[in-house]
Amino acid sequence: MSSSFATSQAVDQAVLHLKQGELVAIPTETVYGLGADATNEQAVATIFRLKGRPSFNPLITHFYSKQAAFEHVEANATAEALADAFWPGPLTLVLPKKKTSPLVAAISAGLDTIGVRVPAHPLTQDLLERVGLPIAAPSANPSEALSPTTAAHVRQYFADNPLLAQILDGGPCQSGLESTVMGFDTEKRVVILRPGGLSFETLTSFLGYAPSTPSASDPIKSPGQMLRHYAPRRAQVRLNAHDIKPHEALLAFGPTTLSAPYMRNLSVTGNLEEAASNLFAMLQELDACGAQTIAVMPIPTLGVGVALNDRLRRASVKSNSLV
Ligand code: AMP
Ligand code: MG
Repeated sequence: MSSSFATSQAVDQAVLHLKQGELVAIPTETVYGLGADATNEQAVATIFRLKGRPSFNPLITHFYSKQAAFEHVEANATAEALADAFWPGPLTLVLPKKKTSPLVAAISAGLDTIGVRVPAHPLTQDLLERVGLPIAAPSANPSEALSPTTAAHVRQYFADNPLLAQILDGGPCQSGLESTVMGFDTEKRVVILRPGGLSFETLTSFLGYAPSTPSASDPIKSPGQMLRHYAPRRAQVRLNAHDIKPHEALLAFGPTTLSAPYMRNLSVTGNLEEAASNLFAMLQELDACGAQTIAVMPIPTLGVGVALNDRLRRASVKSNSLV
């Protein structure tokens, strides 16, 4: 498998792989994705196989432009306005699939909708333009594991796996948290299905109302949102830590007097965007140091802090059998 900081030739090669139904790991501004031709049944099946992803968990499909994305879905006026304002960017719109769309059924995981997004990373934009295909791309990690924010993370997970043809190295992901996923209720009002890089506050001020979030009693609208997710391979995660116990590693946030032999600070100045871009890489590093538990200091639930806390809460859940 080839992987080095991507050049124009590397993008050419990725185009060929994708057209042949092979998988390519692609950089986005959120996390690295495992990309495949969304109109090729075999290619999409390989994504599920490589990730060990349950078939009930739908995939987000990536497009070069809003126009290309909306060829496949029934958009509404709010979706149009959101796409104009926030694409390219960390926003996924879940909309009814058009009958004419050739996207394979497995992408929707039994629903009648598709999640569509236009990513902002220049390398992937170049790739999407050149390949001229919709690219299904979940995060490039085994199911439930931490999301990759560097090409090295993807290599650690899949380098030896022949199902992955290429890793396009676009450097560390800028935003570091997955996209905000949103759907629409029967009145076409926005429902946030997964908090993400685009904050609740930004959306509220844009929409002129606070979008709703599904409550636990609602029927599941976004089936991939499992309780345990984003989990370190070995260590347990202890949230809202105000102290540090022997043998714990510390994931700090902001100025602190707490210390541990193994520690990282998401943002010494308490900047939530910086913390978001560091989250997955620092969890990986602390997991690799061999501590049994990673103690995480409290993080404010403001702006992108909502998505940060969502990921950490899921990382701390011991087993999906508790769901
Ligand atoms: P990932 O690919 O790991 O970033 O996860 C994508 C997530 O987006 C899924 O787990 C779902 O929660 C959500 N999603 C994608 N497509 C749909 C859809 N058609 N309907 C509802 N949720 C979706
Ligand atoms: Mg994921």
